Amino acid sequence: MSIVTRFAPSPTGYLHLGHAASALTGFAAARAGQGDFLLRIEDIDAGRCRPAFTEAIIEDLTWLGLVWRGEVRRQSDHLADYAAALDRLAAMDLFYPCFCTRAEIAAAMSAPHGGDGRYPGTCRTLDPAIATARIAQGDAYALRLRTDRAVRRTGALRFHEAGEGWISADPAALGDVVLARKDALCSYHLCVTHDDAAQGVTLVTRGQDLRAVTPIHVLLQHLLGWPTPAYAHHPLLTDHSGRRLAKRDRAATLREMRQAGATPAGIVKIISCRIGDITSL
Ligand code: GLU
Repeated sequence: MSIVTRFAPSPTGYLHLGHAASALTGFAAARAGQGDFLLRIEDIDAGRCRPAFTEAIIEDLTWLGLVWRGEVRRQSDHLADYAAALDRLAAMDLFYPCFCTRAEIAAAMSAPHGGDGRYPGTCRTLDPAIATARIAQGDAYALRLRTDRAVRRTGALRFHEAGEGWISADPAALGDVVLARKDALCSYHLCVTHDDAAQGVTLVTRGQDLRAVTPIHVLLQHLLGWPTPAYAHHPLLTDHSGRRLAKRDRAATLREMRQAGATPAGIVKIISCRIGDITSL
């Protein structure tokens, strides 16, 4: 089977060294396996994504020397496909509408016995008649997955992590995650798994911060009959004080570094010094 990797940034800011690590790792793995490297723009969050950042991403990656196969896939062009996937899950009776605001969830989680980090389940047991009436009157709601019920359908799950081997996946530990946001009929978890399957991705290279949610992705793949790719989560890059890099750290953006005279080879060297050889998976 030929290897297919991808880089899937959200155009909410300029790329920084952490993004370059994900992209270069995927690119190197595809090249080593004589496979394909793809670029996907995850732009479903209309409030935070900007077309100018998409253009900047393409420019920065081209400067780094990366080439991808075919057209860039933009998630905003595929909303009907995500809605169809959501319908398939709805037909399995795996959702409930959640009307909670962020503030209500935060309050419930900070209450005594409320704080295991998962959604506290406030809307899980809401009377269906009340939920229907609230939807009819136009109240905003998200769709949450009944994760325990979903896990009962799939049974035990696992995924392959580079350098570690097979890891057992426990989606129930993440609680009832949102699969359709209040402001969009989809979510990161749904779109990312849909697209990895649709694009035939066989190896996902991304930061360690997304490893924790990988069990949800594996669960969705099993529910929807999609293959599970292998994963290679790389260590996160940090700034000098040990804080992880974020898009707000302008000094670490590829753009600022380029303007300050950095070269693509220099970027590869910095990343390899910080997180190890990015060409070996
Ligand atoms: N779009 C996600 C982000 O920019 C990454 C998705 C992924 O690689 O799975 O954080």
